[in-house]
Amino acid sequence: MKEHIKDVITKVQPLAETWTAEEVLRWAFERFGNNVAISSAFGVEGMSVIHMASRLHPRFRLFTIDTEFLFPETYTLMDEIESRYQVKIEKVYSLLSPEEQEREHGPALWSRDPDACCNLRKVEPLRRKLSELQAWISGIRRDQTVNRASAHKIEWDSKFGLVKINPIADWDSKQVWRYVHRHNVPYNLLHDRDYPSIGCTYCTRAVRPGEDPRAGRWSGFSKTECGLHIIEPATPVPEAEPNSCSACD
Ligand code: SF4
Repeated sequence: MKEHIKDVITKVQPLAETWTAEEVLRWAFERFGNNVAISSAFGVEGMSVIHMASRLHPRFRLFTIDTEFLFPETYTLMDEIESRYQVKIEKVYSLLSPEEQEREHGPALWSRDPDACCNLRKVEPLRRKLSELQAWISGIRRDQTVNRASAHKIEWDSKFGLVKINPIADWDSKQVWRYVHRHNVPYNLLHDRDYPSIGCTYCTRAVRPGEDPRAGRWSGFSKTECGLHIIEPATPVPEAEPNSCSACD
């Protein structure tokens, strides 16, 4: 099955690079039905994808990794999404409660070893969730981080062993905001308070003028990704044009 789907991806990938975000999403819903779900931490990119999906496939699936360390504004937005889009967000949690994590790993693990903390609260829960799916949809953009620069709109995710769909991989931040304003899409109010990228309270701060939009994530550490969107060597796609144009989170 996996070999077969990898062949499908190899064939469709170059073509998909010419598709609009809506066309990519439509392909994903037609191909995978109930076995594909949007993964979102409800940043503005994810909100664009959620809105688009709601217009194409009203019964779309949506899940989030709830680290239990999110901002109140993020939880408020989740309630708004459920009500506006009539979707039940599938919330996935760490196997350890915050209290259990503190007992087993000591206080404030995020301040000492954020990779270990992200592994416990984000990566393992994501791996568990993805094991029940054939494909997942993200809101990553190529110009967000070095790691995301090689993302394709449709690709084989060798890290988690399923298809990954990145419908707005070639969008820039301005396009995302234009889409959100044009369609009156709800968004996290922290974006209006200099938080271009929003994660856990302990690891996210507002950015200062001139700083990189992701400078507020894991400030003081070289870390730029939580590990959900690290791209590992993927299915070879010789026909594809790497980075021909350029969406946790
Ligand atoms: S972002 Fe910070 S608090 Fe959240 S899981 Fe990662 S290290 Fe832990």
